[in-house]
Amino acid sequence: GATLGMLGGGQLGRMFTMAAQTMGYHVIVLDPDQDSPAGIIANSHICAAYDDESALSDLASQCDAISTEFENIPATTLAFLEQRTVVHPASQALAKTQNRNTEKNFIRSQNIATVPFVSIYQKSDLEKASEHIQFPAILKVATFGYDGKGQIVCSDLPAAYEAFEQLGQKECVLEQRIDLACEISVVLARSDVGTITPFPVAENVHVNGILHSTMVPSHAPDALQQSAIEKASQIAEGLGYVGTLAVEFFISQQGDVIANEIAPRPHNSGHYTLDACPTSQFEQQVRMLCGLPAGDVSLQSPVVMINLLGDVWGDSQPHWSAVLEQPNSKLHLYGKKAARPGRKMGHFTVLANDTDTAMQQAETVFSALQAD
Ligand code: ATP
Ligand code: MG
Ligand code: MG
Repeated sequence: GATLGMLGGGQLGRMFTMAAQTMGYHVIVLDPDQDSPAGIIANSHICAAYDDESALSDLASQCDAISTEFENIPATTLAFLEQRTVVHPASQALAKTQNRNTEKNFIRSQNIATVPFVSIYQKSDLEKASEHIQFPAILKVATFGYDGKGQIVCSDLPAAYEAFEQLGQKECVLEQRIDLACEISVVLARSDVGTITPFPVAENVHVNGILHSTMVPSHAPDALQQSAIEKASQIAEGLGYVGTLAVEFFISQQGDVIANEIAPRPHNSGHYTLDACPTSQFEQQVRMLCGLPAGDVSLQSPVVMINLLGDVWGDSQPHWSAVLEQPNSKLHLYGKKAARPGRKMGHFTVLANDTDTAMQQAETVFSALQAD
């Protein structure tokens, strides 16, 4: 049997590992954390930093192919591994998505709309930016931000100055804050010969900058969903991407389809595929990595996914009976020991005859979990 490597031991790496093991692969996870969600279930676990060259050499020598679950793996790490074994996605594709400025410039180079933005390198850039960007605006750090961390809404220029200080005067983008009709995402797979297989479009609700729920099918008009699929496909093509990739989109009140950001990996909004599609986004990642044909991605049922953040834990685990007793529901927990507010601990899905029913049932289950 072949051996696959996974850079990163979080929940995305864990679900990749499960999918790969189901298909008979051995999986080696590399992650600096001894107790990572993927590391603890992998066939073996290399506990090392992502720039540890002897650990990387060791990994490459044991693996037929290597993928990642984490966009902040140094691009140089992937480049190092590429010299030694098969690696997807490629270092060059990952590099473009690691910085919000290069990412947005790349998206624009594909003639795909982003929100109006200006790159901010120093405080004085903000004044010039305010000539192009209307307030309220959002100042976001260019690198390492996720789950709404590292971004501050600014009502005016003085607030933007203060936000820049608060964010540590790091490279940023100042973005126009727009009125959203809704948010959708496209998760797709692209093969090493360029065949693109998009999953059904997901509609997402964020709370405090963190994904709360995903519903599929989306209520967004078909034409807008098609447009998002085309744009995401063009992005995958333009990156020369191989593997599972997601693009987040804003739908404006005017009906514009605006690319927000690219995730060079499976995505939280694609977790529904585990329970509602014959092939999950993680199995698809395995297939693309191994040069196998893409699997069937047809939606078997309307579905809603709700994230379980550490906030739900309180002093102990919630009583899971509310979700376990709900028919057509499935609980996924990531095996993380410490529950912190905002930390993604697991998710659950509810399948129903239509998305509104699924949403209603899912929110009822979610309330019951919180009431414990
Ligand atoms: P992720 O965990 O998805 O990587 P992130 O920290 O990179 O999140 P963004 O995706 O930039 O953050 O923003 C998080 C959420 O904040 C968005 O999904 C959206 O709900 C809201 N948001 C961000 N930028 C804008 C904007 N320009 N206009 C309106 N809403 C926005
Ligand atoms: Mg992001
Ligand atoms: Mg996002």
